[in-house]
Amino acid sequence: MSEGISTLERHLVIGAGPVGLAMAAALKRRGIPFDLVDAASGVGGNWLHGVYRHAHIVSSKKATEYTDFPMPDHYPDFPSADQMLAYLQAFAKERGILSSSEFNKKVTSAAPDGHGTWAVEFADGEKRTYKGVIVCNGHHWDKRYPEFSGTFAGEILHSKDYRGPEQLTGKRVLVIGGGNSGVDMACDAGRFGRSCDISLQTGYWYLPKTFLGRPLTDIPLWGLPIFLQRLILKAIIAVTIGDYRRYGLQKPNHKIFDRHPAFGTDLLNAIRLGRVKPRPAIDRVEGKTITFVDGTTGTYDLIVAATGFNTSFPFLRDGLVKVERGVVQVYGGAFPPGVRGLYIVGWAQARNGFGRLVTPLADLYARMIQLQDELTFPLGTLMETSFTQSLPTTHLVDPEKSRREIRMAHWILPFLKLRDRRMARNKLKAEKSRITARA
Ligand SMILES: Cc1cc2nc3c(=O)[nH]c(=O)nc-3n(C[C@H](O)[C@H](O)[C@H](O)COP(=O)(O)OP(=O)(O)OC[C@H]3O[C@@H](n4cnc5c(N)ncnc54)[C@H](O)[C@@H]3O)c2cc1C
Repeated sequence: MSEGISTLERHLVIGAGPVGLAMAAALKRRGIPFDLVDAASGVGGNWLHGVYRHAHIVSSKKATEYTDFPMPDHYPDFPSADQMLAYLQAFAKERGILSSSEFNKKVTSAAPDGHGTWAVEFADGEKRTYKGVIVCNGHHWDKRYPEFSGTFAGEILHSKDYRGPEQLTGKRVLVIGGGNSGVDMACDAGRFGRSCDISLQTGYWYLPKTFLGRPLTDIPLWGLPIFLQRLILKAIIAVTIGDYRRYGLQKPNHKIFDRHPAFGTDLLNAIRLGRVKPRPAIDRVEGKTITFVDGTTGTYDLIVAATGFNTSFPFLRDGLVKVERGVVQVYGGAFPPGVRGLYIVGWAQARNGFGRLVTPLADLYARMIQLQDELTFPLGTLMETSFTQSLPTTHLVDPEKSRREIRMAHWILPFLKLRDRRMARNKLKAEKSRITARA
């Protein structure tokens, strides 16, 4: 905990993952006092405690590193979980964040206390009052399980709890879900399990991890308009992969980026090697036997649920922030309307790696948090009244588009101040005329 300044003057950053660390570094750069806490034993977030140890990032190191803190030259194009963790630890140390950090410190409640500050409670019973709360609690922890009719008599493991192939050895495995984690686990089960099937409700877009000898996330395509990105990616898929139906997979029924695409062709290779068998959605379950919607059946010892996560903030009082189908209802990516001193950062997911986005975004947010001191109304309320701002409709972010919006936002901030003054004047006038009318 940083010494000398009362917590009443400090913001609390919740979460020491990549996003919380970026926010802490940006606050420090701007001289904004803060404390950083994490429920886990150190910095790193998911890369410390949330992924299987042999996981590698699927976005390249260039697309994932902080723009102002490059990954070491000796790192490969797709670093491992251990390398990611070492990199994040080095970042925290180099930016001097550790002296303001506390670990094994879980926030159980954070709420406005009616005096313009925030009452925060921790799992160890401690209570503190902070100026504001910056929530960076990540979006890969609140496990979502598949629903099916019937009860499975075998074991069910969520992808979040997968640590290594020893959990699969000798088992007949059914993986449900074909995103990046589901693919990794199906490939492991195909090699180390007794058998592996993968059940997919709909088709996924599988993109090659590399193209023309470079990581796909590094080719100069991501700044183009979305329709051109889709056109080029479809051409790349046609040349390098072909029709997914030739692998026994379904044709995607959505456009690329309408949902998170999966990077890599490992699943397609595993299917070709006969190690993994694709199956459609589940119709019903009886004991260890599963019937799929096409009428075929299979018998399994273990279901791996790679069915994703809910976005949630269990420590925030109901009604402070709305979440609609995984999309957090905040303006500018972080600012809930009507709530002063609450910032929700990092709930959305960059399409191709968080790196290019998180540094400029954290800097913009730190500047806005500083600006909040000069404003009468909460930032989210001011944005709500602007015709240029709307609530998000997806959790997937186009990093290049967002970078352009961030540059623009720095220019627009002084206008927010003007709007705040105008709204404050109007509010005062309305109050005066109410008093006069009553008199
Ligand atoms: C298998 C896997 C592969 C991935 N691959 C990539 C990739 O290739 N590229 C990419 O960009 N992203 C990838 N991701 C996404 C990954 O989530 C991000 O890289 C990144 O970790 C998100 O950072 P974050 O700081 O938002 O959240 P997290 O890393 O989840 O950190 C959030 C932190 O908040 C803490 N916390 C939560 N609640 C509380 C509380 N109440 N009190 C105190 N602390 C709390 C948690 O302990 C955690 O440490 C992958 C994720 C998984 C699971």
